[in-house]
Amino acid sequence: AKTRGRNSIHYFTENMSTDFLKRMELIDDLRTAVEQKQFHLVYQPIVDLHTHRIAKAEALIRWQHPQKGLISPMEFIPIAEEIGLIVEISEWIFTQVSQQVHEWRQRHCADLSISINTSPVQYRNEGKLVKAWADSLLAQGIPYEAISIEITEHLLMDNQVEVVEALETLRQQGITISIDDFGTGYCSFSYLKNFAFDYLKIDQSFVQNMSIDNNDAALCEAIIMMAGKLNMQVIAEGIETEEQKQLLIDAGCTLGQGYLLAKPLSVMDFEQLLIKQNQS
Ligand code: C2E
Ligand code: CA
Ligand code: CA
Ligand code: CA
Repeated sequence: AKTRGRNSIHYFTENMSTDFLKRMELIDDLRTAVEQKQFHLVYQPIVDLHTHRIAKAEALIRWQHPQKGLISPMEFIPIAEEIGLIVEISEWIFTQVSQQVHEWRQRHCADLSISINTSPVQYRNEGKLVKAWADSLLAQGIPYEAISIEITEHLLMDNQVEVVEALETLRQQGITISIDDFGTGYCSFSYLKNFAFDYLKIDQSFVQNMSIDNNDAALCEAIIMMAGKLNMQVIAEGIETEEQKQLLIDAGCTLGQGYLLAKPLSVMDFEQLLIKQNQS
């Protein structure tokens, strides 16, 4: 038994060091990725559930690793946040999205608005970084309503005052704010009382269980009703089936996102969709 015990400890530490090395390698690769611009963005349409019109989209980052292939943002964003590299990545995202949305608004869809995911790190120093985005839009002649900022509940909980103040400034200037993954954080109601968001995105875990779990359906309905009373628009995330879509429509939801409606699309494919939409 003694030998086995020692072996399992040996196995355990060996595993730890492999994880550690993998992590170090990923950090290293991430730095190279930033230098060599190995990222690109895809755009997932946000669709009007009644008319199917697309006037919104969410920008999602992709990392094409030269050897390892596509790496999920769920894998590398948390690490980029930890080591602070997310700041540089996010500035790049903002530049890409603002130029892209400007072009598409001029050519294909005058009221297009694209949302960007943001991380807590970006709100340090009184949100100076994110506030600079408003100035940048102004300098480029891009209307503020062309950009929406997505934040998660966790972001609000961690550094309430600083974040809320920064977001308030942006919102006064006309940049819309979406609360992402709504319902997955904690203490969701106190900040709804103190801060007005423009969009509330119901997390896909609720949406996907709507047709199989009465509690999830009830929660979705309640969230949609509450948002309406608070003058927020609801976006349901992760719609994968017709049934989910219909239940959401019945509950009064007007905007949706999900594989049923459209997958995240490359720049070219999203542009084709806008062109097609104008022709019909
Ligand atoms: P999120 O902000 O909640 O983004 C929605 C995720 O759900 C995306 O995954 C999207 O591809 C996926 N999705 C959309 N429709 C469906 C559906 O019908 N079914 C299912 N199962 N999934 C669907 P993705 O692109 O892998 O991104 C994962 C997360 O990584 C995002 O979750 C977000 O938290 C983060 N992320 C992605 N891009 C960025 C970025 O540019 N900046 C930051 N800070 N975070 C990002
Ligand atoms: Ca999001
Ligand atoms: Ca989400
Ligand atoms: Ca999420």
